Amino acid sequence: MAEKIWLASPHMSDEGYEIQYVQEAFDTNWVAPLGPNVTGFENELAAKVGAKAASATTTGTAAIHLALKSVGVTEGDIVFCQSLTFSATANPIIYEKAIPVFIDSNFETWNMNPDALETAFKKYPNVKAVIVVHLYGLSADLDRIVEICKKHNVPLIEDAAESLGTYYKGKYTGTFGEFGIFSFNGNKIITTSGGGMLVSDDEKKIIKTRYWATQSRDQARHYQHSELGFNYRMSNVVAGIGRGQLKVLDQRVDKKKYIFEYYKRALSELEGVQFMPINEWNEPNYWLSCMMLGGKVRPLDVMIRLEKENIEARPVWKPMHMQPFFEEFDYIGENVSEILFENGVCLPSDTKMTDEDLDRVCKIIKGLWQ
Ligand SMILES: *Cc1c(COP(=O)(O)O)cnc(C)c1O
Repeated sequence: MAEKIWLASPHMSDEGYEIQYVQEAFDTNWVAPLGPNVTGFENELAAKVGAKAASATTTGTAAIHLALKSVGVTEGDIVFCQSLTFSATANPIIYEKAIPVFIDSNFETWNMNPDALETAFKKYPNVKAVIVVHLYGLSADLDRIVEICKKHNVPLIEDAAESLGTYYKGKYTGTFGEFGIFSFNGNKIITTSGGGMLVSDDEKKIIKTRYWATQSRDQARHYQHSELGFNYRMSNVVAGIGRGQLKVLDQRVDKKKYIFEYYKRALSELEGVQFMPINEWNEPNYWLSCMMLGGKVRPLDVMIRLEKENIEARPVWKPMHMQPFFEEFDYIGENVSEILFENGVCLPSDTKMTDEDLDRVCKIIKGLWQ
């Protein structure tokens, strides 16, 4: 069987940066939560994206949970959340026993539709937070979303798990809201095997999230807790991988863009094919190359055909308001996220792919139109 081509798999640097930091952790016996790599990774990532402070966590999901806690979301509060996303965006709302209201996307960005957000505010004037997502590395319409949140005086949390390295009008996504979160899960643009980061310009709030993330240990010689704690801190070994990966982020973005443009050149002409939207204010990280199929060939045809050739492709996220678990919650918008789910397909976007691999994928896909 031909060699497996992955959707997106871990890609350590050729230079071996990651292993050097991990080796340092071993040599100094900092094989523990916290340590110099954690602080180093936080500072380096904050500097890279242009945030004042950062807190490294075990997962991106944990970072979203801490952001919700920090903006004061508690039982019974309403949180507006983009519907078209991975469940990790919405789950922490439930951890806090709050109530998600899901918001539709638009075709221009694939992300939260600002008009639907406006409509939602009319129906629910008392909202504790808004979570916007930058799917597949495409940025949401941030100017409008930030403006709407400001007008209603509601904090914005950016789920930038998929968009580390994406610019919106020259500024990195994750730095427009009160909080931004990133993920370093195995399939993300850079990975630590698993991990996350919470960023903000409010250093005090970040310090408080570090406290919650380390079991809410008060400053005392004995173990003293005046708040509920969580075990959400990144380990020093994992952070070492992150510091190394951060050095090759720009290289990874360049390769992801190359992959997207390769597909676009090769496949755009096929009947019914439309690639994900690249807006003039958007400089994406192109985490995954996705396209919509409006003709006879369906996403499932593409996925099954590629699977036979040992190549991984996936559907676009199934919207949260269509998930059995979230069915009971309200949804504001039309059917855009449903259309994106039903017609979208994510092509293999692994940065280790060669031109031969890309050519192979394209030939197989084109074959479906013959
Ligand atoms: C990956 C991902 C997350 C969660 O990140 P983990 O590190 O896996 O917890 C959250 N939101 C989106 C949109 C993601 O793709």
